[in-house]
Amino acid sequence: MSLKRNLGLDILSEKYAYATDETTGYTSARKIPDNWVATSCGYCSVGCGMFVGVKDGRAVAVRGNPAHPVNSGTLCPKGLAEHYTLEAPDRVKYPLLRKNGKFTRISWNEALDAMAENFLAVQAKHGPEALGVISTGQLVTEEFYTLGKLVQLGFGTSNYDGNTTLCMSTAVSGYKRSFGSDGPPGAYEDLQKADVVFLIGANIAENHPILCQHLEANPRKTLIVADPRVTKTAMISDVFLPLKPRSDIALINGMIHVLIQAGMIDRDYIAHHTTGFEELAQAVRKYTPRYVSEITGLEEELILKVAFLYGNAKAAFIGWTMGVNHSTKGTETVNAINNLALITGNIGRDGASPFSITGQCNAMGTRESGFASSLPGYRKFENADDRRELAHLWGIPQERIPAADWPIPTLSRPRLRKRFARSG
Ligand code: SF4
Repeated sequence: MSLKRNLGLDILSEKYAYATDETTGYTSARKIPDNWVATSCGYCSVGCGMFVGVKDGRAVAVRGNPAHPVNSGTLCPKGLAEHYTLEAPDRVKYPLLRKNGKFTRISWNEALDAMAENFLAVQAKHGPEALGVISTGQLVTEEFYTLGKLVQLGFGTSNYDGNTTLCMSTAVSGYKRSFGSDGPPGAYEDLQKADVVFLIGANIAENHPILCQHLEANPRKTLIVADPRVTKTAMISDVFLPLKPRSDIALINGMIHVLIQAGMIDRDYIAHHTTGFEELAQAVRKYTPRYVSEITGLEEELILKVAFLYGNAKAAFIGWTMGVNHSTKGTETVNAINNLALITGNIGRDGASPFSITGQCNAMGTRESGFASSLPGYRKFENADDRRELAHLWGIPQERIPAADWPIPTLSRPRLRKRFARSG
């Protein structure tokens, strides 16, 4: 530290100077950029629109994009700190190759050559399916699509996944089991249009803060929150259900039971759009309010109250996140949620939807553009028409599109059989 600084004569006036920015107003002079670059927040799945302020080639500030429909110019604390990640000291900025046990910086050309060489060598020796690709939830959709195409056509394997199977596999499976596709049938706009919003295993006030703006913009709604913890979201609810951990299926089945008994179901919707209603009714017969109360720890009156609130709604929205998805019974819970929406016809209308709120900013990107369990556009590996259509769009022979059992039958099943025979 300089003598002037030690004596208090240097107050770092340049560093702490203030000035007026024409967009943001009176602010730290260091944070006034040369230009603002439009982008999206890379943290959570709300996908807020933002501008990054760039000065002398460095990101120095961020601000919300007022024209973006999701956040209308606001950002949560995570988004407001987004630009700091660009200069994090441990950020990886160049390709690194492990040489003699140590990471060494290499050029992009060297990196591409090394990857191509190693991928080809592995596939030449063990077959196309010996290669797998794990991506993330942070790419933009166009990148996901390109990566999926590279893996499925270039590498010739369907061994490709993003964060989807780590955090969202139960939502994927639950949607697929209920609807045959894992495209969520709702949207964030539904939060503003529903008259009942039921959040289960979702703490949006802390994890997806800007979604609370959508709730606030809907003063007519009743907010029901089911969570074993008194979260910040629970604190803003109209009805809080502090249920015991792992008792959410019982709660949903109990609501279904109550609504069937009370005749508060949409028989027309059930008849035209569902199968298996009688089996469901039979399966939930034992989930009386008393039985559900014993499992969940909730008062019987509370169970009846939320069932009637949901059943009387003109448009009811159920949102969930990892509290459901990461449960050991996550898929079944998603199915139970979908069942509740289906028997009341709360799907396919404004404000009415069972909706999995994802974690990462573009967790849906992998699912939409093709990965381990589907082809781009939610087309199915197991559907020949889907494969034919995609081959036509891509201008390639259909045989090059991975099928459900592809490429295992031709390449590795005999080896697997041999291995099992040996181990048996
Ligand atoms: S709500 Fe999510 S997307 Fe929006 S600023 Fe916060 S972290 Fe970013």
